[in-house]
Amino acid sequence: MRRPLVAGNWKMHGTRASVAELIKGLRQLVLPAGVEVAVMPPCLFINQVVQGLDGKSIAVGAQNCAVEAAQGALTGEVAASQLADVGCSLVLVGHSERRQVLGEGDEVVSRKFAAARSCGLVPVLCVGETLAEREAGKTLEVVGRQLGSVVEALGVGAFSQAVVAYEPVWAIGTGLTAGPAQAQEVHAAIRAQLAAESAEIARGVRILYGGSVKAASAADLFGMPDIDGGLVGGASLNADEFGAICRAAGS
Ligand code: PEP
Repeated sequence: MRRPLVAGNWKMHGTRASVAELIKGLRQLVLPAGVEVAVMPPCLFINQVVQGLDGKSIAVGAQNCAVEAAQGALTGEVAASQLADVGCSLVLVGHSERRQVLGEGDEVVSRKFAAARSCGLVPVLCVGETLAEREAGKTLEVVGRQLGSVVEALGVGAFSQAVVAYEPVWAIGTGLTAGPAQAQEVHAAIRAQLAAESAEIARGVRILYGGSVKAASAADLFGMPDIDGGLVGGASLNADEFGAICRAAGS
C-alpha cells in the first residue's frame, strides 16, 4: 500500500513576512494521518520554515540541488548535503520550469537525482510533455525518455527511495488540469516502464500528479489507481486550499 504524498512547491514566491503568515496557516491545519505532507520553499526560507513547522508533521524540501552532492566551489548552487544539513528530506529534480527556462537536460537531471540520493534526500523526479508534444501524440515517448534516462544512468534500484511527479507542462500554472483518465494513462505508463525493470520497485514508487491541482479537482485525480498524491504549485501558497488538497488525498 503506497502512502499518499502531497507536496507544495512554493516556486520563487515569498518574503519573510509572507512566509511567516503561511507557516501560521499551515500550523493550524488538521491534516489526515495517512497522508505525507511536504512543502518546498525557496532555498533562502528553508531554515525559517524548518523552524516554524517544528513539531508539525509537515516535511520540508527544496526545489533544486546542485549536480555535486558535496559542498564546494560551485558559485550560486546549493548542494544536496547542505539541504540535508538544514533539515530537508526531499528535493525536486527536473522541474519543467528548470528544464525549459534554464535548459536543464536529462543528464544534469540524473546527476542531481544521484546527488540527492547520496545525501539521504528523496528525489522527486518531474517529467511531463509540452502542449506541442501532446498534440503531436508524443506524450508517452517524451515522458518515457525523461524517466528512462534516469533509469539508464542510475539503475531502477535508484527508485526504491524516490518519487516521480507527472506534470504536463501545459497544465502548470495555466489553470488547465489533465483529466483524471488522461493523467492515469500516463501514470500507468510510468509504472509499467519501471515494472519492466523491477515489479517490486514499480509497486512501491509513488507517482504524483502536478499541474493546476486545486481542492476542487484533487479528489477525482487522487481517486485514480496510479495517482499517489499531488505536486501542488500555486494552490500551495494558500494554507486552507493546500489543507483541503491534503485531505482529499486522505479520503
Ligand atoms: C508546479 O510548479 O509543480 C505546479 C504543479 O504548479 P501549479 O500547481 O501552479 O500548476
